Amino acid sequence: MHQILQTSILAKREGFFYHLDEIDMKKCCVLFSGGIDSTTALYRANKDYDTIHALTFDYGQRHAVEIEMAKKTAGALNISQTILSVDLQQISGSSLTDPTQNIPEFIAPEDITPGVPSTYVPFRNGIFLSLAAAWGEVHDIQDIICGFNVIDSPNYPDTTRDFAHAMETAINLGTEVAYGVKTAFKVLTPFVGLKKADIIQEGLSLGADYSYSISCYAGREIPCLKCSSCLLRQKAWEETGRQDPLINRLKKEGKL
Ligand SMILES: [Zn+2]
Repeated sequence: MHQILQTSILAKREGFFYHLDEIDMKKCCVLFSGGIDSTTALYRANKDYDTIHALTFDYGQRHAVEIEMAKKTAGALNISQTILSVDLQQISGSSLTDPTQNIPEFIAPEDITPGVPSTYVPFRNGIFLSLAAAWGEVHDIQDIICGFNVIDSPNYPDTTRDFAHAMETAINLGTEVAYGVKTAFKVLTPFVGLKKADIIQEGLSLGADYSYSISCYAGREIPCLKCSSCLLRQKAWEETGRQDPLINRLKKEGKL
């Protein structure tokens, strides 16, 4: 159920003017890192919702350049954005937040050992969802859209459908929703069962611009093309038969 805004401001949508209080306004926030998956989620939300807010996390990631790039993508869509800071370097335990650890090079699926990779950031998505729920409780936004997917990266436990459902249950038990006076939160994972190439295809059908989306774990705008994230992205674009717009932009700007 969505919120109905009690206001008489005129809105323009699909070429027609009408009063906002006549509209069942759909509102959401998107966990938006600026990578391929969350960029697609942002474009999908932009199509499906009337009001979209991007939540981007400055968590001490070594690839903090993704935050600046994420601002460009949200800005191009005229989507409001909040950068929430939470210093996960204090917790460490990941090569993505500990600059003294090396980023591992790509490991073939048959060589992956049980357990999480060093690029797993302990309970990162649980922390992000908790912060999004707290933000949503204050701003009266209950739909939380995530670009989680597990097909190409199965060894990240905080990206599964079961995990998202469990977090949704916990959020609704641990916020004012529990007293039955507020609309329930929804944790939505539209791409959880899709391959990265299919997520890109979905985004392209929505007109997504991936030229500022960053994937590389190493922390630079220019992909290292050695880490698993770079190689997964490269393979996905090859599967689509299209050039990666990030590479095209970097070439155009003389950075490659
Ligand atoms: Zn890389």
